[in-house]
Amino acid sequence: MNCDHAHQEIKQILEQDVKPSQQLQEHIETCSQCRSHWQMQALEQWISRFIDAPVQSVSPLAETLWVDFRAS
Ligand SMILES: [Zn+2]
Repeated sequence: MNCDHAHQEIKQILEQDVKPSQQLQEHIETCSQCRSHWQMQALEQWISRFIDAPVQSVSPLAETLWVDFRAS
């Protein structure tokens, strides 16, 4: 599995609540880029459900929180 595939699967997981495949779990364990991507996407999803706004519009907010979170 490469990062593009991983990103696609992560999107599906977050949008459709599907379970991560074995390949994705293995990839995530070894790829910090995809781990960050997943956490960032999950944060966006969570915020958008929380404040009931489309994911696109909460993206800047998620980015701000993500930076704070990483800096702490
Ligand atoms: Zn990756």
